[in-house]
Amino acid sequence: MSWSLPIFRVAGIQLRIHITFLLLIVWLAFGYYTQGGSAVAASRVIFVLLLFLCVVLHEFGHAFAAKAFGINTPDITLLPIGGVARLERMPEEPVQELVIAVAGPLVNVVIALGLFVAGGSQALLNPTTVEGGGLIAQLLTINIVLVLFNLLPAFPMDGGRVLRALLATRMSYARATQVAATVGQGFAFVFGFIGLLWNPFLIFIALFVYIGASQEAALA
Ligand SMILES: [Zn+2]
Repeated sequence: MSWSLPIFRVAGIQLRIHITFLLLIVWLAFGYYTQGGSAVAASRVIFVLLLFLCVVLHEFGHAFAAKAFGINTPDITLLPIGGVARLERMPEEPVQELVIAVAGPLVNVVIALGLFVAGGSQALLNPTTVEGGGLIAQLLTINIVLVLFNLLPAFPMDGGRVLRALLATRMSYARATQVAATVGQGFAFVFGFIGLLWNPFLIFIALFVYIGASQEAALA
């Protein structure tokens, strides 16, 4: 039992939503409702769902790039800490891994540019509207944060995969993985430390990165 629900299928890729993600949405909705009532809860939950839509599109970016190299992605699972695209195998060529890793953040760059244009035109058409512009500005900021955060070289995050691909052009794949995993574990400690001081969410990211890096290092 994977504790995730199938939502829809695109180009052979099954989107699944993990049960903990649904619990997160219920928990947020309840929290916002008790703070500000149903209107606040609805607008905040819609914002969170739009944010995760950007995360899902990011994962589809990886999946479609992998497909271009003949690598299928059986499923993408949405978790509270983000999305995970499960590729059927890892690309053999470093350049393929690099393209697949960059394709996800590139989707968020495209979304951010689209929101920038939409926000700019909206401000020109109706300079007194703040609500819609506020939502666009928040989503724009979130997409920029997604790009910058994912490109940190914290293997197995996207930036870490870029690092391994670059290292693998000058050393063996196993050695490149070990170096990238060590850097990734270093980032995990930094995330964990910042998480303890400031944002508990980062502790989950730290665990995810640390365990992921250890697993990939063990595989190599
Ligand atoms: Zn990614």
